Amino acid sequence: MRLQDLVRAIYPPRCLCCEAPVEQDFALCGPCWRDTPFVAGLVCDTCGQPLPGQEESGLVQCDDCLRIARPWARGRAALVYGGNARRMILQFKHGDRLDLARPLGDWLARAAAPILQPGMVVAPIPLHWLRLLKRRANQSALLAARVARVTGLPHVPDLLVRDRATPSQEGRGRDARFANLAGALRPHPRRIAQARGRHVLLVDDVMTSGATLAAAADALRGAGVADVSVLVLARVPHERWVTPDRPLPTG
Ligand SMILES: [Zn+2]
Ligand SMILES: [Zn+2]
Repeated sequence: MRLQDLVRAIYPPRCLCCEAPVEQDFALCGPCWRDTPFVAGLVCDTCGQPLPGQEESGLVQCDDCLRIARPWARGRAALVYGGNARRMILQFKHGDRLDLARPLGDWLARAAAPILQPGMVVAPIPLHWLRLLKRRANQSALLAARVARVTGLPHVPDLLVRDRATPSQEGRGRDARFANLAGALRPHPRRIAQARGRHVLLVDDVMTSGATLAAAADALRGAGVADVSVLVLARVPHERWVTPDRPLPTG
């Protein structure tokens, strides 16, 4: 028996979400797959939010992105925040399921395909060190590492630094979320040369209002980055974060 078969006999593949037996590693079982809100079809070209209509409609924007000037070029999301997407993201961020970085990163890389460009640099949204201690890892950096690996693009995990711990975004309206984040992120003085004049693909776990990504994109563009696009694991639909029925992620 090969070692690989032996490992599979002892640790048969389990569904990423519910741990039911599945055929292959890093997969979802049928019911979990059906209950995971993958983004498909027509999406907002700026934030990746799914929109009603045909995919052939050309470049479109959601109401949010029409209203708010986004300081980045294009954006995509792999999932809509809710259902199993929410469950897996909470396990990944707060429940010690760092093993999810690989499959979630693969979904992200697939979602990014339409906006990838040669010469792009991949960078994550940083965590303040206090939050890093609590969470044990910067999950966005793990996702960015996987995206860089799958796409073959360079990864600069500490391109941005977060100097101050921003209070939680929870329960804040849109303007308060943007004000809370303004100036919280800055380029790393010894890393920024790797991104100057290039297009940066910013990776984060969840996009709610877009305030965090806007602060990051502003900081990078102010430091000579040519352009910025954004890639998030899950987009919180507008109506969910304006009148949330349960606490929502920051960002
Ligand atoms: Zn399952
Ligand atoms: Zn949008």
